[in-house]
Amino acid sequence: LRGVVALDGPSGTGKSTVARRLASRYGAAYLDTGAMYRAVTLAVLRAGVVLSDAEAVARGARSAELTMGTDPEHPCVLLAGEYVDDEIRGAAVTEAVSAVSAIPQVRRALVAEQVRLIEAAMSEPGGIVVEGRDIGTVVAPDAGLKVYLTASSQVRAQRRSAQDTAAGRESDVDDTRADVQRRDKLDSGRQTSPLRMAEDAVELDSTGLDVAGVLEHLHK
Ligand code: C5P
Repeated sequence: LRGVVALDGPSGTGKSTVARRLASRYGAAYLDTGAMYRAVTLAVLRAGVVLSDAEAVARGARSAELTMGTDPEHPCVLLAGEYVDDEIRGAAVTEAVSAVSAIPQVRRALVAEQVRLIEAAMSEPGGIVVEGRDIGTVVAPDAGLKVYLTASSQVRAQRRSAQDTAAGRESDVDDTRADVQRRDKLDSGRQTSPLRMAEDAVELDSTGLDVAGVLEHLHK
């Protein structure tokens, strides 16, 4: 693997696990762009900014001191030096993140940072696996491999719910399904960089596949 692998798709399709395993296997770096949108959302919520004030949210997002760890074995997210990996996956951030990420100025700032991180990784031998919603379409349109991962909403809700339970967070499959569908609608319906498959992406439905099955398809 040399270059950029773009892994896009809605939530709960197994993107993170697949992206990390792929990166580990090929000695590549790993970038979770969803974690970046979640971290700036946390910064904005902590600052008490009203989410309907797009300018204030964008200012809060730009001033967030975000650091991304890109080792696929130990991915991490820091805000002003504090590890926030657990908190960014909690209910408050999950509820607010799609609204924050729909703001064009927020996307502009984060896409610029993502491009910078990708360029830094490209000076290393292994390349980088990047997961998100707009990697193949906007962040890395020249990626060497673009994969669009899908799965039924029931399976996606079950996966998200199992992840939450494993991480010690309370979770209910029906609530999770409602949240996954709500975010998909917002992420696909926004004006700037809506969730959609790049024309040159390979679509892979992971409904009946486990991670090993998905990886097997990608190695072909
Ligand atoms: O991937 P994850 O579910 O952690 O992403 C959280 C949210 O961040 C998504 O629902 C979406 O609103 C936003 N996001 C985005 N663009 C990306 C990655 C994530 O808008 N490239």
